[in-house]
Amino acid sequence: LYFFSYSKDNVSGIGIKMDNGSFDFSSALDIYQHSQGNATPVSVTFLQVLVEMEFCSKEAAEEVMNNPWVQAKAGELRLSSTITIEPPIARPGKIIGIGRNYKAHAAELDHNLPEAPLFFSKALTSLTAHNRPIIIPDWVTGRVDHEAELGVVVTREGRHIAENDAMAHVAGYTLVNDITARDMQKTDLAEGAPWFRSKSMDTFCPVGPGILPADSVTDPHNLTIELSVNGETRQHANTGDMLFSIPRLIAEISKYMTLQPGDIIATGTPEGVGPIENGDLLEVSLQGLGTLKNTVQR
Ligand code: MG
Repeated sequence: LYFFSYSKDNVSGIGIKMDNGSFDFSSALDIYQHSQGNATPVSVTFLQVLVEMEFCSKEAAEEVMNNPWVQAKAGELRLSSTITIEPPIARPGKIIGIGRNYKAHAAELDHNLPEAPLFFSKALTSLTAHNRPIIIPDWVTGRVDHEAELGVVVTREGRHIAENDAMAHVAGYTLVNDITARDMQKTDLAEGAPWFRSKSMDTFCPVGPGILPADSVTDPHNLTIELSVNGETRQHANTGDMLFSIPRLIAEISKYMTLQPGDIIATGTPEGVGPIENGDLLEVSLQGLGTLKNTVQR
């Protein structure tokens, strides 16, 4: 199962995707609270808030969805296909990308392997959702690349987080397509300038389709991640090939800055990055989470 954010008629809600379909989790949570004797339930309609409450878990999902009052209303809670999928986290405090975290990818771009995790930021306005277009302005010349990445969503605030404690700060996993204006990045790198603009154009950060709760994943370092362009596989890797593990990344980043609920860490892309063109359909998929789809518009 996984959680997702959606909107319908400009009203937002939390959805849950289960084996037997998609359901309105916000309303299920209201019903659940009533069943517990709470006459004035707190309505939670943003997945980011559920994450902040540390309630974005398989355990919580099952507790709510298996409740008899909720079960009795299952038919009404079923979501129709007319909903719009939104980014799982509406307003992340930060989006951190990791550079060169897979050996073969560093090699394909002729980069040395970093001795410590190398991280950078993507502007929050680059965030976009499943099924929305990736827009490349006409004036951007040269190559723009896809980068399929496992995204980690932070659930608990922390600074100087020890590797041993790091997983307690993770709500779950999502998919990130770290779109990169590659030639612009190369120019900036050569001049010793930051990677920021090449990574941060509007729509250059599709995230979704939802959040796979951490407690539903046996080993996040043994997941298959794939990216295809127009149905043809371009990237296919196992997250076990990461140079720096998720706990190491969390420990390293939190040495410098506080990690907060809703922050997203894109853990780096494996080999197989390549250029994208107008009209391309990009599909990034992860075991258990399904597929993040976006088309390219120039
Ligand atoms: Mg990347």
